[in-house]
Amino acid sequence: MMKKFLTGCALALGVLLAFGCCIGAITHAAYCEYHTPEVVLDAGHGGIDGGVVGKQSGVKESDVNLSIVYSLKEYLEERGVKVVLTRKTEAGLYGTTAKYFKKRDMEKRREIIEKASPNVVVSIHQNFFSNLNKRGATVFYRQGDGCGESLARCIQSQFNGNEGTPSARTPLLGDYFILNCTNYPSVIVECAFLSNREDEALLITEEYRRTVAERVANGILSYLLKENQAQ
Ligand SMILES: [Zn+2]
Repeated sequence: MMKKFLTGCALALGVLLAFGCCIGAITHAAYCEYHTPEVVLDAGHGGIDGGVVGKQSGVKESDVNLSIVYSLKEYLEERGVKVVLTRKTEAGLYGTTAKYFKKRDMEKRREIIEKASPNVVVSIHQNFFSNLNKRGATVFYRQGDGCGESLARCIQSQFNGNEGTPSARTPLLGDYFILNCTNYPSVIVECAFLSNREDEALLITEEYRRTVAERVANGILSYLLKENQAQ
């Protein structure tokens, strides 16, 4: 069904381009009437686990992640993709007791992904490193996940050559729960470094969070179209 949906998208895009329409003006949802591809978006951390913290502003990674996820949801839905969120609020997914919260939180995320049985899973995080010069975006995938690697490359290429991300940066292998907990193609996007002054200054603005969301959305969409054409 997804094939039919995306073929519809590709054909409509071709027709519109043939008639000289502007790509930016195309609303995919208007003509993609078939069954939609589905994406789980995972905003990393939440609740008592704020993730890493910006050195200058004190901004919490968990808040930055959630705000990027909501913009990303909007971009994808505008283009006819169904979106399921793991974390929807500032709270974590571990319930009311703090004991063993991390395990329960991660287990809940796994349950949501399994229930959604999505085409892809994209987890949003911010990075932090002792070398304060380190900047930019890095995408991670799990070893042996060929589709995840392809998705990671599509997303990474959207960042390469932009603010602080070298044009030749390649995605990296990662051994993390969210990548390993299901068999769906899964990536973690470490959008920028909260330990770097320039990256942090960008990440505290709504404008840059939307830019990040748009890049991740474009990477996901190009992966979905590519996968469809390869079938
Ligand atoms: Zn994180």
